[in-house]
Amino acid sequence: SGDDLAYRRVLVKVSGEALMGDEPFGLHWPTVAAIARDLVEARATGAQVAVVVGGGNILRGARVAGDGLDRATADHMGMLATAMNALALEKAIEAAGSPARTLCAVPMPTICESYARQPALKHLSRERIVVLAGGTGNPYFTTDTGAVLRAAELGCDAVMKATNVDGVYTADPKKDPNAKRYDRLTHDEALAKDLKVMDAAAFALAREARLPIIVFSIREPGAIASAIRGEGRATVVAP
Ligand code: UDP
Repeated sequence: SGDDLAYRRVLVKVSGEALMGDEPFGLHWPTVAAIARDLVEARATGAQVAVVVGGGNILRGARVAGDGLDRATADHMGMLATAMNALALEKAIEAAGSPARTLCAVPMPTICESYARQPALKHLSRERIVVLAGGTGNPYFTTDTGAVLRAAELGCDAVMKATNVDGVYTADPKKDPNAKRYDRLTHDEALAKDLKVMDAAAFALAREARLPIIVFSIREPGAIASAIRGEGRATVVAP
């Protein structure tokens, strides 16, 4: 299998918000289970699948810093939030029928493996879904940057950015009814048009590494597998 794939090794970015469904905070288990099933289906295409999980459903460092809580500490708390989500997603993936392994950029050896490139590649080659926690492991970064960084160092063919909208638009489609969706864009066009595909640090790294970013809606069941086949509704940002 795998001959019909547009991308053979992918890095899927799942934001914390995607895991909360319509809840105001934390994890909505049916939503976590649905995303896990999509990831298992994505792996069943024959592609190797790594996942970077966000933490915004629990805590964002930039938002809670201030009033005696410094930014670095707040970001440490944010990284812990991503680890909580990663553990939940790992168990949901296993329940959906695929082996999974959480690797955290912040070592916490009694809880999960620490991230290192070689073990991550080994798990991928053994057809495990690799769940990457802790973002880059450093404060002042985001899990979007972590996603692009890991995609580049693990030799992924694309970053699959699973969001709540089905691509990149000329304006925010929730606010502007005339907003138009792009099918394809180059990194340079996205930058020139100031389209916020990802935060600036993440996007700069993707451009430098010439990594395609596929933006699609996670609310569509089977969307990850479709994106891996090069099908489905999405915006492809590629050189
Ligand atoms: N974070 C960090 N360094 C990283 C990745 C994440 O400090 O490399 C912290 C940061 O505080 C961030 C929080 O973890 O706000 C949650 O990550 P993010 O906001 O990227 O989650 P998402 O928006 O994808 O849910």
